Amino acid sequence: MKRNLPFTEEHRLFRQSLSDFIAREVAPYYPEWEDDGIVPREIWKKCGTQGFLLPWADEKLGGFGADYLFSVIVMEELASSGFMSLFLSLHNDIVAPYITRFGSESQIQKYIPGCITGDTILSIAMTEPGAGSDLSAIRTTAVRESDGWVLNGQKTFISNGLLSDLVVVAAKTESKNTPPHQSLSLFLVERDTPGFKRGKPLKKIGLKAQDTAEMFFDHCKIPLGNLLGEEGKGFYYLMEKLPDERLSVAIGCQASAEAAFRLALDYIKERKAFGKTLSKFETIQFEMADMASLLSMGRSFVDQAILAHLNHEPFLMEASMAKYKLCELNKEIADRCLQLFGGYGYMADYPISRFYMDSRVQTLYAGTSEIMKVIIAKNLGL
Ligand SMILES: Cc1cc2nc3c(=O)[nH]c(=O)nc-3n(C[C@H](O)[C@H](O)[C@H](O)COP(=O)(O)OP(=O)(O)OC[C@H]3O[C@@H](n4cnc5c(N)ncnc54)[C@H](O)[C@@H]3O)c2cc1C
Repeated sequence: MKRNLPFTEEHRLFRQSLSDFIAREVAPYYPEWEDDGIVPREIWKKCGTQGFLLPWADEKLGGFGADYLFSVIVMEELASSGFMSLFLSLHNDIVAPYITRFGSESQIQKYIPGCITGDTILSIAMTEPGAGSDLSAIRTTAVRESDGWVLNGQKTFISNGLLSDLVVVAAKTESKNTPPHQSLSLFLVERDTPGFKRGKPLKKIGLKAQDTAEMFFDHCKIPLGNLLGEEGKGFYYLMEKLPDERLSVAIGCQASAEAAFRLALDYIKERKAFGKTLSKFETIQFEMADMASLLSMGRSFVDQAILAHLNHEPFLMEASMAKYKLCELNKEIADRCLQLFGGYGYMADYPISRFYMDSRVQTLYAGTSEIMKVIIAKNLGL
């Protein structure tokens, strides 16, 4: 599909090397990782060695100061190969930027080099059993003592939940009477901190190699210096960074839907029924034509949002619209393409079934479709 983005030869080579890496280091092992419910740590280290982690980070820290298109390539290649459970983008483009944007120089120096090598895997813990869409309902607390912060509470559905070595945790730091938007702070919690425990990987219907888990904080004491940014500013930090997360998910969804479409396109040219290939039936041609048109519109829209991000222009509205529409589109396209495979589409050995199962969650996390519509409506002045 035609792209109006300033991809260069360097980007092309990067994409090629990632695509080769996925074919060599991910594809053969992925079914095993799905059975395990988690990917091995070694794959993160290999990604680090190859330069696929935080490519945008400063050269002084070990990155190569790459532009946003390199991040886009990582999102697209993992999504289009169908190996979405390897959550590099969460680490690269969602969590690490909280540290570089709001962290102190010493926090950046301490943590970011390990994030680039793959020695430090990141996660972000906002959601709780009683607080998902409504972050103001967060109940995890952080109480300041003379020598540290003490965290108590529970988080759920945390991606990279078991693998992560460093977690950005959202917790309340103020009394009940403080308005919710001023009472949230972000903290850096390291693996093995006493009082910090995780549950077993949660069993999911898709993203089966992704270690989504619960987290428990029981008098978990962290140093005073592990507050990220300023106390009470957590909600504002999340509001600033969540559009990036939504755009990342939208980019993955567009790439995933296009890949599902390509799988179906190949299949209908091979599969025969009633003496001819499926591709010769007009109803099926129309089905493909309709999906191609939808995908083409999605591509134009998401590339426009990518360009805005690349040029450091505001894209709040575009990010919410893209997250809403492209996650819904991905779900729809995966379903319609699976239908074209007949019974084979329902078989786990056929990659289309993974596209279908992995598409379902996209309208739920990183802000549900309904929450995206709430944001869009607010921006329309409603
Ligand atoms: C696989 C997976 C990975 C995840 N990874 C992470 C992670 O890494 N970190 C993290 O913090 N969280 C993570 N989440 C949590 C995810 O962001 C939440 O599930 C999501 O925000 C929705 O919250 P909820 O599940 O509590 O649903 P609820 O907020 O209870 O929503 C239930 C339903 O009500 C609707 N609804 C809620 N409010 C409104 C409203 N105002 N108007 C209209 N409809 C509304 C919702 O759209 C939804 O349909 C993950 C979830 C999953 C499934």
